[in-house]
Amino acid sequence: MTQLPLSLWEAEPILQHLSAVADTLGYPAYIVGGWVRDFFLSGEIGSALDVVTVGNPTLFAETLAQRLGTTIAAEFRRFYVAVVRWQHYEIEIVASRRESYTPESRNPAVEPAPLEEDFLRRDFTINALYVGLHAAERGTILDPFGGIRDLARKLIRTPTDPARTFSDDPLRMLRAIRFAVRLGFEIEPTTYAGIRQEAPRLQIVSPERITEEFHKILLSPDPTRGLRLLFDTGLLEQFLPEVAALAGTEMQQGYAHKDNFAHTLKVIEQLLSERPQASLWLRWAALLHDVGKPRTKRFDEKLGWTFHLHEEVGARLVKDIFKRLHLPLDERLRYVQKLVRLHGRPIALAQEGVTDSAIRRLAAEAGEDLEDLILLCRSDVTTRNPRRRQRFLENFDRVMQRVREVQQKDQLARFQPPIRGEDIMRTYNLQPGALVGAIKEEIRQAILDGIIPNEYNAAFAYMQKVAPYILAGKPVPEELRQNAQNKEGERNEIRTTHE
Ligand code: ATP
Ligand code: MG
Repeated sequence: MTQLPLSLWEAEPILQHLSAVADTLGYPAYIVGGWVRDFFLSGEIGSALDVVTVGNPTLFAETLAQRLGTTIAAEFRRFYVAVVRWQHYEIEIVASRRESYTPESRNPAVEPAPLEEDFLRRDFTINALYVGLHAAERGTILDPFGGIRDLARKLIRTPTDPARTFSDDPLRMLRAIRFAVRLGFEIEPTTYAGIRQEAPRLQIVSPERITEEFHKILLSPDPTRGLRLLFDTGLLEQFLPEVAALAGTEMQQGYAHKDNFAHTLKVIEQLLSERPQASLWLRWAALLHDVGKPRTKRFDEKLGWTFHLHEEVGARLVKDIFKRLHLPLDERLRYVQKLVRLHGRPIALAQEGVTDSAIRRLAAEAGEDLEDLILLCRSDVTTRNPRRRQRFLENFDRVMQRVREVQQKDQLARFQPPIRGEDIMRTYNLQPGALVGAIKEEIRQAILDGIIPNEYNAAFAYMQKVAPYILAGKPVPEELRQNAQNKEGERNEIRTTHE
């Protein structure tokens, strides 16, 4: 029998406290699940502890809380669950129990039961490892299904009949993929076959539980493996049919279009290699960027395959998907929609002769998400031809260069000199009118051209030199305009108020 060294108890006060409570109450208690699994994998002491008691869990929680100088943080008496928080630990205490499922209901009937029954309700062998806390079994590992062997073999396997396990709680199928992706494990073949068989049962799981698991898969370091597994098992079809529909190609007159599911995975991969910490919503945007393609696909005799307006159609589908999966319908939805809607725009603006206003419109529509948009666009380049690839990427650089130029221009256009119209009117005793405007514009240009610095005193002095000419209706002598303090060609740094 495997045994954890008791020296661990000396080093970890949390273990001492848990064991002391078990000894006081005189009934068996075990740490189970993720904490044990992760301890075996990494040797680290996790902060989330699941404790199973063969005895009253509320009493265990109360005694523990009292000992730690705190109170029970949450309690679900109907499910025999209580939670205690202490330092950075969260300890969930659950009675050893039997769970009976009926095909009609999503929720099992729960009742306290011997430990052997608790074994049977666990999802995977590697999650059914128990560490004894009470004196008689302190440090003893109970491994009813060979979980330690499966950890060594890197296998996700159900303790009993997979079809039954997955049919009872279909969410376990998503958990299998989540653990496979997070731990870099394989799914054992009969377990995998069980998922394929039971995939349609996912329909009975609530959208909230599905998205919670799916987000863990999307946020893992290797979400594309997860998406591939979700697709191959038939699970993706159940909750994201629009994405599953991206898979496959079609041939007409010798022309095949690319497999847009494979393409989408490649885009996510490239995006994460550029930005490994990409937010959940940027990942969603990459996943859904081409979701409008299946519905807009046409074969044109002259053009070949086209996906006209797929960005716009895609953005609308994003909303349907968010509604159906109970995702937030706020700025996070609008962000994903925006990236999906605009992801074709930058490449269209890379051509010569595109007007400033087209560039300005893109910058305005993308707003603060322009950088994310360009990252998505760059990741969208999946051609294997290195020269084409290079050319596309350079196009985006060019667009961004244009955006910066236009923004600079706009900033200059908005620039106001430190001398205001009222200053000019007061100094020369003028009524509002064209003369005031002309003097102000002369000062503005002098600052933009670097003839004088962008300061009140310098501007006032310059005004005193040039205003007499303007007021007399004469041209300002060129030598005044060249009376530059700055070297030729150097422009002043203009700081405007909204910077
Ligand atoms: P994580 O590191 O994500 O917390 P975990 O294994 O601790 O992983 P939890 O959801 O915290 O997962 O659940 C704790 C334990 O409860 C699991 O290890 C497993 O034994 C059991 N469990 C949780 N959810 C299920 C489920 N849907 N079906 C069967 N057993 C489950
Ligand atoms: Mg856990």
